[in-house]
Amino acid sequence: MSKNKYDFKQVEEKWKKFWEKEKIYRFDSSNKKPVFSIDTPPPYVSGAMHMGHAFSYSQQDFIARFMRMFKGAVFYGFGTDDNGLPTERYVEKINKIKSKSMSRAKFIELCLKTLKKITPDFIKGYKDLGISADYNIYYSTIDKKTQKISQKAFIDLYNKRLAYKKEFPTIWCPECQTTIAQAELEDKEQDSLFSTLKFKCEDKDLLIATTRPELLGACVAVFVHPDDNRYKKIIGKKAKVALFDFEVPIIADKSADIGKGTGALMVCSYGDKFDVDAINRYKLVEKIILNTNGTIKEGEYKGLKIKEARKKILQDLKEKTLIQDQKQITNVVNVHDKCGTEIEFLPTEQWFIKILDNKKTWISQGKKINWYPKYMYKRYENWVNGLEWDWSISRERHFGIPFPVWHCKDCNELILAKENELPVDPLQTKKICSKCKKEAKGEEKVLDTWATSSLTPQIASSLINNEIKVPYSLRPQAHDIIRTWAFYTIVRSYLSEKKLPWKNIMISGYTKLGGEKMSKSKGTGIEPKKLLEEYGADALRFWAAGFSLGSDVNYQEQDLVAGKKFMIKLFNASRFVFMNLKNYNSKKANLIETDRLFLSRLNDLIEICTKNFKNYEYNKVKLETSNFFWHIFCDNYLELIKKRVYNGTNHEKQSAFFTLYNSLLILLKLMAPIIPFITEEIYQEYFEKKEKQKSIHISSWPKKLDIKQNKEDIKIFNELIKFNSEVWKKKKEKGISLRDEIREIKIPKFLDEFKKDLIATHNIV
Ligand SMILES: [Zn+2]
Ligand SMILES: [Zn+2]
Repeated sequence: MSKNKYDFKQVEEKWKKFWEKEKIYRFDSSNKKPVFSIDTPPPYVSGAMHMGHAFSYSQQDFIARFMRMFKGAVFYGFGTDDNGLPTERYVEKINKIKSKSMSRAKFIELCLKTLKKITPDFIKGYKDLGISADYNIYYSTIDKKTQKISQKAFIDLYNKRLAYKKEFPTIWCPECQTTIAQAELEDKEQDSLFSTLKFKCEDKDLLIATTRPELLGACVAVFVHPDDNRYKKIIGKKAKVALFDFEVPIIADKSADIGKGTGALMVCSYGDKFDVDAINRYKLVEKIILNTNGTIKEGEYKGLKIKEARKKILQDLKEKTLIQDQKQITNVVNVHDKCGTEIEFLPTEQWFIKILDNKKTWISQGKKINWYPKYMYKRYENWVNGLEWDWSISRERHFGIPFPVWHCKDCNELILAKENELPVDPLQTKKICSKCKKEAKGEEKVLDTWATSSLTPQIASSLINNEIKVPYSLRPQAHDIIRTWAFYTIVRSYLSEKKLPWKNIMISGYTKLGGEKMSKSKGTGIEPKKLLEEYGADALRFWAAGFSLGSDVNYQEQDLVAGKKFMIKLFNASRFVFMNLKNYNSKKANLIETDRLFLSRLNDLIEICTKNFKNYEYNKVKLETSNFFWHIFCDNYLELIKKRVYNGTNHEKQSAFFTLYNSLLILLKLMAPIIPFITEEIYQEYFEKKEKQKSIHISSWPKKLDIKQNKEDIKIFNELIKFNSEVWKKKKEKGISLRDEIREIKIPKFLDEFKKDLIATHNIV
């Protein structure tokens, strides 16, 4: 650091290489220190890290780095999630192809090839940000080892009768052409036409309002409320569906809302979850009019997509004067979170994991975990209470972990793979049914990616001979995946071992730009990669440390400018300190009162930071340390001792040197988890020779200095600072320089002990 200007690019590159070469973050299982284990989130592999990831991974890394210094050993591996829909969509996008128009084998080959190309650069983004994972403990959710674990876990569930296959109307995305889970739904507000249509009952109009006239052909019943006087007479009769040539029964059911629309309700197969229940309750025969790609199956509207069919049917209804009334409304529809397409319900054969019977268990397991921040637990509980389906884990996709299952068409026998065959692709391996000696058919569906990523504690641990057992110390993650990743991991850990997956969970918020979530694929133009180049990793992390855990933040570039400024100030202040410490070589000092009081305040800071880090309140650590550094250390303490350092007696100098050395070292350590690069730079330049720890990041967390502390210290310290400000203010008012003499100031009696430093600092005569 011989140069005068802080060159973050050169510094960050240097220490990143050093950490990797010296294996500073290596997990050493022979180390007998207590281990803090982290169930690291495996990010979806895409081109580059997005702002949401930079934000939340920084926050988890603050804790990882703190724990490494505080406890001594951290298990912090790294994984990538690289199968399932997000990966498929990404591979389709960058290769400009559609997976459904290729063979499964060809597409998988393309996925693997694409991943091989992009993954190293993707992981580099995390290293550039200073994420202190042990990248040698690495898994991908599609690699062979992971496939084996995932398939074995599925077989275990099947054998325990906790996984089953069933034909059932499930949530279907016509765009991705697969089933999806309840957890993958998002609400979307949209403008719709609410049309009141004329059904007929005994030649009279029976009015029914709907936003989905394209489902008329799928209508199987009309519901009216048993207490609705308008319809009492027609209960049990038949209604002719508007525009169509068939009749459906009119059924009295309390679910029909007298006040909504006309009070009469059409039940279709399947408009929504309500229809699924209704049809099931009355054992009605379903009429499926949709193909899996979301087009109409047959009849006059055959081949039309849902929205086209809606338009055409409304036209036809209008022509035949079957519309009584029409108005624009805003309603909420369910869309698939990955593609934004409105979902449908289609009966298909799918695999499920049983979760509905066990809501109480999921809630009690969730309660046993410490949630940071606490209020996030409520989101978990609400989600569990609102569960309406078992967990659907099969997907009609190409690139995923196959179900290790074959099915004999002749005798209906289900054949499971043996453990020594895993991992297995049943489409590549033949199985003969033991009963009828015929070839069984391999399952074509693949496991949903959550069915695998819900096993991350086991997957990561398998890389080090299963030395880390559940519960892990910590799961860090973002709040949008509480209902998926957190919930499913809690479920899987319970179903397989009856244990908690982790003791603590920390939940990060979103980053937003003008109110919009920044991780959305739209692209905001603001990427961590660019910001790292312009401001550096420390500045970006410093920004991420400014917000409390769980809170969503609005991104503002000025915050990064402030961060960059802070690093420069830290660099310059350290240089000043060490210019004066060249010949300092002592471990002890007989402290001057100013120094003792300052160190007493520093001891309080250590206590505050330790407590806050333990509570995952890194934002308070940032606030406290940066305030302390800037206002207490630079603005006040350095000013108070400047003269003494040059002109003091040997005793006075030694006391200041001792204080400078220790306070700077402690401040650096307290800030090291948040800004790892610059703290390493300063540590290596000045402290390493004396402290003899290879890196600040594996040095021990600061303990309180052994000095005398009095109850009154804080009060007096604040008075001292107040006094300084008053003098500086007065000099400014008088228009004189801070070095100029001043006469009219009296040092109050309770600051007597600091008289010498105060007189020297302010030039009081
Ligand atoms: Zn979709
Ligand atoms: Zn058979």
